[in-house]
Amino acid sequence: MSEFDYDILVLGAGPGGYTAAFRAADLGQRVALVERYPELGGVCLNVGCIPSKALLHTASVIDEAAAMEQHGVSFGEPFIDIDKLRSFKEDVVGKLTGGLAGMAKQRKVDIIQGTGSFTGPNEVVVEGSAGSKAVTFSNAVIAVGSQSLELGGMPWGDPRLMDSTDALELEEIPNRLLVIGGGIIGLEMACVYQALGSSVTVVELTPGLMPGTDPDLVKPLQRRISKRYEAIHLETRVTQVDVADQGLVAHFDGKHTGKETFDRILVAVGRTPNGGKINAAAAGVEVSDRGFIDVDSQMRTNVPHIFAIGDVVGQPMLAHKASHEGKVAAEVCAGEKSAFEARVIPSVAYTDPEIAWAGVTENEARQSGLKYGVGKFPLAASGRAIGIDRTEGFTKLLFDTSTKRIIGAGITGPNAGDLIAECALAIEMGAEAGDIALTIHPHPTLSESVAMAAEVFEGTVTDLYIPRKK
Ligand code: FAD
Ligand code: NAD
Repeated sequence: MSEFDYDILVLGAGPGGYTAAFRAADLGQRVALVERYPELGGVCLNVGCIPSKALLHTASVIDEAAAMEQHGVSFGEPFIDIDKLRSFKEDVVGKLTGGLAGMAKQRKVDIIQGTGSFTGPNEVVVEGSAGSKAVTFSNAVIAVGSQSLELGGMPWGDPRLMDSTDALELEEIPNRLLVIGGGIIGLEMACVYQALGSSVTVVELTPGLMPGTDPDLVKPLQRRISKRYEAIHLETRVTQVDVADQGLVAHFDGKHTGKETFDRILVAVGRTPNGGKINAAAAGVEVSDRGFIDVDSQMRTNVPHIFAIGDVVGQPMLAHKASHEGKVAAEVCAGEKSAFEARVIPSVAYTDPEIAWAGVTENEARQSGLKYGVGKFPLAASGRAIGIDRTEGFTKLLFDTSTKRIIGAGITGPNAGDLIAECALAIEMGAEAGDIALTIHPHPTLSESVAMAAEVFEGTVTDLYIPRKK
């Protein structure tokens, strides 16, 4: 028998933590999963990926129904029963979190509810409703995630000022909504509220929406939402928000100036890791000033038997990165020779249109002096895209010109988030342009645009006319 209570203690039950716990249990380890909230699933299942996508689905149906009017089918104005919509969202979340609790039980993972902090290199104390409990372990996995960044100088406490968790609560549909931050969270939530009937203004500090994303990919989204939203203010910040009876008064500074009153304001200016809140120093684990924890490719911290995964180890803060890292950490703890070796981590903004990318972006290729070629296929030439009247996007593939291997991909358009998976697989497998172009894709689908982008690079495309280079 081990001198410790558990082989592995996992701190935090988000997609990183529950994946690590389940994988470790499947490998025969005795596992404790410590979570401060009653439900498993972390940010992603409870207040992130899942509820936001449930509401984005609703938004997309509303928009599609309205668009049908141009094709002779009219459904009329939607009637929105916000209580019922909220219940639907809560049901979706409940099904998944309930499923996790069931799977934890099946695997004999002990769930310990309460807030954990380290008291030594092999001990965590958990403060829960039943009091405090010391739990010892041979290995630990830190999976405590991140939380919304709070902008200073804002009247936090006023229910009309929201972070993403508040916005997902769907308390009401404000007439005028201001979204501070034109990143993924801001734009996804803007999409939801605009479809539900709010008049939306977005304010973004930098010169472009979703900074860091290939600007080419963002253009079709920007064009579409510029027509639908009340305003998009770039290179502008909100310096102050005053509370008034009739709303929240935002003061703008930068390219756009002045002050305006909104019914609600969503602050979505990024997320900050929770690494600084677990007394990691007691275990000897180093945490940066910003709250991140450094790890090696096996997800080990500077203390070899303590691992860290997910948002707390750094960008990109994505659920599928967290769960992949969770498996690596669990397998290494269980003595397997695993490491995080993924070539790419795909990213998706589930806006309308969706924007998805994986691997090297064109900006990065240009800046690093890579010799690359581009194959770009516009959805305006796709039979399927024309059939669904969504031709504004494209698929763009980047190839290394010397090896002809795919090194990056970007897609803007309907279902881009699903379509990017093929590109991620192609990059992982080291596929050449010919491999993608010669794979027969079903017709008529949006997935053909991936093969056709490769054909454009190869010079074999027939669905476009591209004059031969002399
Ligand atoms: P988290 O999910 O943050 O989980 C950490 C857990 O640790 C939490 O349950 C927390 O309560 C617990 N915890 C923290 N400290 C302690 C402690 N001391 N003791 C006990 N428990 C503790 N990502 C995507 O890939 N796709 C998306 O579509 C997507 N949409 C998003 C939408 C929104 C609105 C938000 C906010 C995020 C979204 N994300 C999305 C990001 C995604 O949610 C995170 O990347 C992911 O949840 C990170 O997983 P994690 O396991 O690292 O941490
Ligand atoms: P973000 O960092 O992606 O975007 C924040 C935006 O706010 C940036 O564009 C930034 O320039 C802007 N900003 C910062 N300060 C500002 C200010 N004072 N005024 C105006 N604009 C300001 O952060 P986020 O959108 O909050 O999302 C956080 C993370 O959550 C993302 O990076 C992502 O990892 C994750 N997430 C992923 C998904 C997805 O995968 N679909 C969805 C939501 C969130």
